[in-house]
Amino acid sequence: MGDSIEFDVVVVGSCNLDLVSTTTHLPSPGETLRTVAYAEHAGGKGLNQAVACARMGARTAFIGCVGNDNAGTMLRELLNSEGIDTSQLVTVDAPTGRAFITVDASGENTIVIVAGANAHVGDTPFTVPLSKVLLAQLEIPLEIVTQVFSQAQNAITVLNPSPAAALSPELLSLCDYAVPNETESEALGGTQFLLGSGVNTVITTLGERGAGISNGTSMTPIAPYKVDAIDTVGAGDAFVGALCAELARGETIEHAARIASIAGALATTVHGAVPSLPTRAAVMSLYAD
Ligand code: ADP
Repeated sequence: MGDSIEFDVVVVGSCNLDLVSTTTHLPSPGETLRTVAYAEHAGGKGLNQAVACARMGARTAFIGCVGNDNAGTMLRELLNSEGIDTSQLVTVDAPTGRAFITVDASGENTIVIVAGANAHVGDTPFTVPLSKVLLAQLEIPLEIVTQVFSQAQNAITVLNPSPAAALSPELLSLCDYAVPNETESEALGGTQFLLGSGVNTVITTLGERGAGISNGTSMTPIAPYKVDAIDTVGAGDAFVGALCAELARGETIEHAARIASIAGALATTVHGAVPSLPTRAAVMSLYAD
């Protein structure tokens, strides 16, 4: 790879402020409830996965949008504090994306998402910097993901098709790797459909059962790393970020997925998304070649 490649991973995606209320029960229609606890944290699949890449040692840039508000400032500062390049994070005239999350005593939740600024990614033209890996999810306009992947040049394209949405044959044919979880895979028509639509390789994450790599001719199981899981939020983001960071290092997909499997497992041992994303040192200390 030439010296002109400034980044290992460029992430084009969403960022949100998550507003999390803990309540005794989920409110019924018309009911007003007091929270038992309340917290705000950075979220959005794009931001989470960018942080996951950076903690895995990848030189990472984030392409996205925030609003001209306090939440936007906070998200930009968080990305910067993780060493992520935000020169293509555009401030737009819309509220920063938000997720209103209510969690009851049994852990059941409801989530209302305000796309806000995330719906404006691509309104202002941006330059996709050269990178070894291009990573996207589906919380920004699909046509922008397609546009970015079509400009990938030699970069490896990785799509985390989350939340699942109907994908155009054009976008699917631009994906080197698609990394759905089991539910998303089913919603998208399954591994064989994705492969038949032009995705080169599908890596399906299977929670505590690990993951599977399918390329049309073979299926390689990736064993889970055994942990006592306490909170699975962030596991998928940790897996995808670690996978991209290792692919950028030139690792094979099998090797990258084995490392990602450890990263995903570690993320389940800590509460929250961003706080649970592991460092490369933590992951590699558990990796036996
Ligand atoms: P998502 O969070 O997107 O639903 P998964 O639940 O499939 O994704 O988790 C992503 C990855 O994290 C899995 O492929 C696996 O490697 C790891 N993982 C998740 N849950 C566990 C668990 N309970 N034990 C060990 N590894 C886990």
